[in-house]
Amino acid sequence: MRTHHPPSPLTLPRPLPALLLPTLLAGAAAAAVPTGHAIAPPPTAAAPSGHGPVPAIHTAIPGFHPAIPSGHGFAPATTPAPPPPAPGIDIESYRFELTLRDDTDEITGRTTVTLRFTADGVTEVPLDLIGRPPPEPSAARPPPAAADTPARGMEVLAVTTPAGNPLAHRHQDDVLTVTLPSPGTAGTRSTFTVSYHGIPASGLRIGPNKYGERTFFSDNWPNRARNWLPTVDHIGDKATCEFVVTAPAHYQVVSNGRLMEETDLEGGMRLTHWKQSVPISPWLYVVGVARFAVQHLGEFKGVPVQTWVYARDRDAGFYDFAVPTIEVLHFYDAYIGPFAYEKLANITSPATGGGMEAATALMYGENSVTGERSVGWRNVVIHEIAHQWFGNSVTESEWDDVWLSEGFATYFTLLFREHAYGRDDFVTGLRQAAERVWRWYDDNPDYRVVHDSLTDMSRVTSVATYQKGAWVLHMLRGRLGDEAFWRGIRLYYARHFNGTATTDDFMHAMEEASGDDLQAFFDQWLRRGRNPALEGSWRYDAAAGAVQIELRQVQPGAPFEVPLEVGIYAEGDLLPAQVTTIRIDGPAHRFVIPVAAEPAEVRLDPGTWLLFRSDFRRGPPR
Ligand SMILES: [Zn+2]
Repeated sequence: MRTHHPPSPLTLPRPLPALLLPTLLAGAAAAAVPTGHAIAPPPTAAAPSGHGPVPAIHTAIPGFHPAIPSGHGFAPATTPAPPPPAPGIDIESYRFELTLRDDTDEITGRTTVTLRFTADGVTEVPLDLIGRPPPEPSAARPPPAAADTPARGMEVLAVTTPAGNPLAHRHQDDVLTVTLPSPGTAGTRSTFTVSYHGIPASGLRIGPNKYGERTFFSDNWPNRARNWLPTVDHIGDKATCEFVVTAPAHYQVVSNGRLMEETDLEGGMRLTHWKQSVPISPWLYVVGVARFAVQHLGEFKGVPVQTWVYARDRDAGFYDFAVPTIEVLHFYDAYIGPFAYEKLANITSPATGGGMEAATALMYGENSVTGERSVGWRNVVIHEIAHQWFGNSVTESEWDDVWLSEGFATYFTLLFREHAYGRDDFVTGLRQAAERVWRWYDDNPDYRVVHDSLTDMSRVTSVATYQKGAWVLHMLRGRLGDEAFWRGIRLYYARHFNGTATTDDFMHAMEEASGDDLQAFFDQWLRRGRNPALEGSWRYDAAAGAVQIELRQVQPGAPFEVPLEVGIYAEGDLLPAQVTTIRIDGPAHRFVIPVAAEPAEVRLDPGTWLLFRSDFRRGPPR
């Protein structure tokens, strides 16, 4: 048992720069908006010359490299790497050349793949690419509707070497297998180009926006890039990407990374070239092609920040997206580590309902433009920016660990809200998240946050991966304290920067930062179902000068082991006069807490640190 003063608001390890703008402080009430799932040079390059007053907190961490060098007091990560998505190869870069037209939904593509062999003797390279369905058996007459609908899927026309020589290949069961001219040797590279065409069945949405204007927008999440881009479409195989898009000149084209070229061509077409020089996962490769209004909003440490909205939404969209992006970038850069990328663009899209975090090119549903700076949409913007750190730069190795993306983005959104809009807004967000978790677990009591070799991609995310994942981080912060929590977060980010990570990698970073053994904490919150449900009562024992508390864990299954704060309130108090921490680890407990006077009220978890449900009231005197 431990008694202390009431928990103070978030104390961060360094003083924050003055990020608050008057506009940030308006309207802190939270509205419910569906969250979807949704650039500076790479850190090895010279840091851009000083923009902004943000302290360089990340310099406290030795070396922003995929692994912490030995000799800095950190043990090397011991978690075995998950199996590579395609044995013996690591894709390094894709160059996607696409031609889009107004008179057909068929796209023409040339994808140049550069890979590095990680083993000797590789003779074949499998790429994910959804093909056209096999032709109808000749005896079967296709139904009339099918006869009018062109077949969807991609047809491969050729695979060639850089010298233009054809390579043998076969395209079966949505896998394009390329036969190399000679077996690969570990450490060497190979490059080839796939030429193809077809109408995407999914992944690239071609159709009208809310104004009836034709648009082309990607929608790859979680594994639909393969519908229009030949890729190793696996979350763990990160590569750089370039989009070289030829489209009618009345469109503008936005994509990942830095704008390299815009050239008007013959026949009313325009070529637009974007290059993403930092490796990212295939679901994050995006294009948006529409009649845009584009605002160059400003810079964050030399990184351009842009707004891309439909031309008809120009005034309202520029107003809505003017805040709080730059302030959010400063916050995460200061508290987690450096922003990984070359640009940040907020973009409206008809292909997403809520938000989509694509690296450097963040997409929002087309109803995000309201002209009123909706608080709900503001929170979606913060969430998608948080993903640039967690999900995009540090990427879960497998979808099983998707909470490392969604739980983190959800909690770091709350952390920005705590910083910018105050503790009450933060607690409001936490309590809303807890309510959603409870409602969801009523129907899914055994759901585990970390999946066990999930194969059904429709079940990747849930309230548990978002809101419960956020709560797990919050409880971890409560357990470790702010200082060790942020130290661990920065260590985890530094160690896996522009790489991949597992839940165990995260646990090990937090253990190293805190000195705690966190295995039981991670197991009970992430690898089993249910959450603690408490029933009990309190009574005042005047003779003993103490409060007696009886508590039972009533959820089915093994009891949780959790710390729980108990607040003792005097008459009329908003804050507890005394806070005592008790430890719950069995089915039933009885505690005695000495108090100075008879309390008016006793409440569990006054600081909002535990995900639990309770029926707790004053019992009759004995
Ligand atoms: Zn998300």
